[in-house]
Amino acid sequence: MIDEGALRREMSELCRSLFERGFAHGSAGNVSARIGEHILVSPTNSCLGRLDPARLSKITVGGAHVGGDRPSKEAPLHLGIYSARPDAGAVVHLHSTYATVLSCLAETSAEDAMAPITPYLMMRVGRVPMVPYHPPGSDALAEAVRARAGAHRAVLMANHGFVVAGKTFEDAVFNAEELEENAKLLVLTRGQHLRLLTSADLTALEQRFGK
Ligand SMILES: [Zn+2]
Repeated sequence: MIDEGALRREMSELCRSLFERGFAHGSAGNVSARIGEHILVSPTNSCLGRLDPARLSKITVGGAHVGGDRPSKEAPLHLGIYSARPDAGAVVHLHSTYATVLSCLAETSAEDAMAPITPYLMMRVGRVPMVPYHPPGSDALAEAVRARAGAHRAVLMANHGFVVAGKTFEDAVFNAEELEENAKLLVLTRGQHLRLLTSADLTALEQRFGK
C-alpha cells in the first residue's frame, strides 16, 4: 500500500497540474483517495491548485471527520462511490468546461451521455450515464450517483459536471482527463455528421477493458 505521506503529496501535485491546465477553476472540484480504512478528501472551499498535503481532510468510510481541515461538502458523493465500487482507490470530481457543457444540453442521453467517438474513453472509463440534477452536496445527488457507480466508473451529473473513480489517484486523474477530452471532441464536432464507433467496436472494447 502506498505511504500516506506520498499519497498526500501526489494528490496535491496532480491537482495543481489539473488546475494549471484549466480542468478546475476557483474552488470548484474535489478529489479523494482511499488509504486503508480512511479516505483523504480535499477540504471544503479549497482550491485544487493549492492543496496543502498536511491539511487534507481525513474521514472514515462512514464519513466521520478524524483529521485535517473540514472535508468538501461533496464528500458524500465520494463515499457513495467507494461503497458501490470496492475496487475504487480514488475519486475525482470536476466541473471541467466541456463535460459540464454536455451535462447542460437537453439532448444528452441519461443512459449514454457521452458518445464514444474514439476508443480511448471506452478503454479507460467505459460508458458514462447521467443522473438528473440534484443540489450539490445533497444526499439525493450522492444516492443517485451511488446507484449508477457499481456498473460505471464515471457518472455525469446534469447541470453540474462529472465524477470518476480509478484504481489509484493517478488512474482516476487520467480517467478524468480522458473523459473531459472526449467531451471536448463531442462539443467541438456538434452539428457535424460524425462517424461513431460501431456497436461491434464497442463490444470488443468492453470485453477487453471491462466496465
Ligand atoms: Zn461539484
